[in-house]
Amino acid sequence: MSNTRVKQGFRVPLRIRNLGLALLALIAAAVIWLATRDPVLTTPALPAAASAELRQASEALTSYDVRASFQPDRRALTARERVAYTNNTGRALEAVRLRSYANAFASAQTSPAATTELYELCYKKGFSPGGITVVSVQVGNTSAEWSYEDEAGTVMKVVTPALAPGESVVITLTYTILIPECAYRFGISGNVAVLHNMLPTVAMWDGDWRLEPYYPIGDPFVSECANWRVELTMPDGWSAAASGAMVSVSPLVYEALAVRDFSLILSNRYVFSQTVVNGTTVTAYAKTSGEARALARDAASALKVFNGLYGDYPWPSYDVAAADIPFGGMESSGLSVISASSAADSSARPLAVAHETAHQWFHALVGNDELREPWLDEALCVYAVTQFIQDTQGEAAFADYVATEIEPSMRLTIPRGVTIGSPVELFASWNEYRTIVYQRGASMMLGLREAMGGAKLNEALALYVKDAPFGMADRSSLMDALSRATGSDWEGFMVDYLDTYILGGW
Ligand SMILES: [Zn+2]
Repeated sequence: MSNTRVKQGFRVPLRIRNLGLALLALIAAAVIWLATRDPVLTTPALPAAASAELRQASEALTSYDVRASFQPDRRALTARERVAYTNNTGRALEAVRLRSYANAFASAQTSPAATTELYELCYKKGFSPGGITVVSVQVGNTSAEWSYEDEAGTVMKVVTPALAPGESVVITLTYTILIPECAYRFGISGNVAVLHNMLPTVAMWDGDWRLEPYYPIGDPFVSECANWRVELTMPDGWSAAASGAMVSVSPLVYEALAVRDFSLILSNRYVFSQTVVNGTTVTAYAKTSGEARALARDAASALKVFNGLYGDYPWPSYDVAAADIPFGGMESSGLSVISASSAADSSARPLAVAHETAHQWFHALVGNDELREPWLDEALCVYAVTQFIQDTQGEAAFADYVATEIEPSMRLTIPRGVTIGSPVELFASWNEYRTIVYQRGASMMLGLREAMGGAKLNEALALYVKDAPFGMADRSSLMDALSRATGSDWEGFMVDYLDTYILGGW
C-alpha cells in the first residue's frame, strides 16, 4: 500500500532513481571491497642483524654512504653519495673510474631499451630520456676535476691525488638521476620506478678498469662486492623494495653489506607480504595482496631449496617486487624484480622467482664476469630451476620442464657462430641469447648431471659457492669444483659445449 501511495503522490523521476540505484551499488561494492581486502600494514618488520660472517666479509670493501630523496612528480632521485675507496689495484692511481649507467638512457642511440626488439615494449609512450646531472664532485673536502670518458657518459673519470696501492680516498658526488618513462630495469611504468644498478659505482678493476658500454643484451655488468648505507626519503604513500636490509624506519635506512650492486624499486601502489625462512626476512611487493603473498611464498620456497643445495643465503633480507619489465625477472643483490606478467601467472611465477633467487648464489654471492662469461651464472640458474622443480613438484614435472624448455634449444638452427661460451657483445638478439646461453647452457649442465649423477653435480656446485663467497669465479673455478667432487676431469666435456659452434637440428 505505501508503495502505491508513494508512486501516486510523489513520483521519482526515472533518471534520479537510476542515479540512486547506481549510488547504492557503488556503496555496496565499496563495503564488500573493504570487508574482503587484507589489512594494509604500513611498515615491514626489520630483519635480523647481519651475521658475524657477513660483517667479516664486508671488511675492507668499498663503502657507499648515500642520502637520497625521491621526487616522483619530477621523475627524479636526488642524492649525495660518499664513496670510501681504497686503491686495491696494486698500481699507483691518479684517477678513479666510476660507472654512471643512467646516462646510457639519455638518447635512443645509446639506450639499451631502444633496440628494435625492445623499443615498443619499453617506451610505450615514445622515447623518454633518463640520465644523471652531476652537481658536484669532491675528493676529500676539495672540489675535484672530473669528466666523462665515453660518448654515452657511462664512464666518469675523477682525478684524485696520487694514490699508492692500499691508500684510501673519499669521493663525494651530488647528483640528480632523471628516471625515464620506460618499462625496463631503469624506468618508471605504471607507478613503479625501477632503479637497477643506477647509483654511480666504482668501476671493476681486473688488471685494468672495466669500461664496457651498457650493451642491450644480457646483464652487461661486472662488479666487486661493496657495502652500502642508503637513507631514502620518499613522499607519503610510497614504499621501496631494496637491496639490503631495512635497519631503520624513520629515517628510512637500508644497509647492504658485501653486495654486488644496489638497486631500488619504488611504488605508491605496493602492498607487501612478509615471511621469515631460515633466518632470512623475505618481503614481497606487488599491487595486490594476493600477488604479494604468492611472491613471498615462492621466494621463501626457493630460498629454502637453494639453502639446502648450495649453502645458506648469507644476507638478513631478501626482497621481491613485481614491475613492468620486458624480461621474466631481473636479479640484484638481495632483491629480485619479477615481471608483472609473470607475477600474475601462477605457473610462470614460481619458476621466474626461483631463477632470480638462484642468482643470489650464482651472481650475487659468487660473482662472475657477466660480460665475458654470461653463461656462468645464467646456465647455473636455469639448472638450479630444474632442481627447484624436481624438489617442489616432483620427477614428472622436472622431466616435462627439461623436455619443453631446455632440450628444444639443441634442435633449433642458429645461423651464426655464437656458442654458449660467447661474450655478451656477440649476441644479436635477446631471443638468440636466451636460446644459447640459458637453454643450451642448461643442456650442458643436464649433460653433466647425466654423466656424473645429480648428487655429484649439486655437490660440485656447492663447492663452487664455498670456494669464492663474495668473490669472483670463472669457468676454471667451475671445472675445478667438478673435478674435486668427482675425481674426474670435465674440461673436454665442457669445452665441447662452451666453445663449439652447434648449428642445431640434431
Ligand atoms: Zn638470469
